Amino acid sequence: MTAPVVELRGVDKHYRGARTAVHALRSVDLVVEPGALVAVHGRSGSGKTTLLNIIGGLDRADGGSVIVCERELRAAADAELTELRRTDLAFVFQGFGLLPMLSAAENIEVPLRLLGQDGATRRTRARELLELVGLTGRASHRPNELSGGEQQRVAIARALAGSPRLLIADEPTGQLDSRTGADIMALIHRIVAERGVAAVVATHDLSIIEVADHAVELSDGRVVGEIAV
Ligand code: ADP
Ligand code: MG
Repeated sequence: MTAPVVELRGVDKHYRGARTAVHALRSVDLVVEPGALVAVHGRSGSGKTTLLNIIGGLDRADGGSVIVCERELRAAADAELTELRRTDLAFVFQGFGLLPMLSAAENIEVPLRLLGQDGATRRTRARELLELVGLTGRASHRPNELSGGEQQRVAIARALAGSPRLLIADEPTGQLDSRTGADIMALIHRIVAERGVAAVVATHDLSIIEVADHAVELSDGRVVGEIAV
């Protein structure tokens, strides 16, 4: 038995402003097994991004326990969270987040530079990842020379470059038409199946819920529905 990649128990999160207080997550439990695809859905404002940010060590819970890749994140120092994100986690966002002056291949190499890999190793890995996401012919294109769907493929390739254990994707199809979005979801599904990477995907998109191993619905910060597919 390998340990879950993510294990949340009774997670609470409040945002407190000068005049406002939002209870963004209420006693959320969530387990993600290695190699599983978990969809998180729910209306805008239901807490999806908050949940993903807590899993990714980008924000901290203020109640419950958050274990990601065998680390308890609530007690972790900032440096430990940074290290976790660098080695075990990968992020994909709605807005792609590619560096505009770099080519597709160079964007994919960015995290490999941070991991200290040499140029030849990086280039080989970038080629392999471009092939994985079906963009072999686009290696030297800059983001503005790519369609939205192609940019998201590059972002997914970049996310996988450092061989993460968990892919965290926040509405990865939010800026794409439904057909392109379905292709991106199919790509994420294939990567999870072939590479044994776990994924947590926040989405409005029914196509990911259909292919997910497990779907969680949030409403007002609470898990209100769960489907094990
Ligand atoms: P979703 O991703 O499902 O749209 P979010 O997790 O972004 O939902 O937001 C959940 C709730 O928390 C919303 O009511 C939102 O307004 C609130 N919220 C999110 N981030 C902050 C913040 N930094 N400060 C205050 N309130 C926030
Ligand atoms: Mg969101």
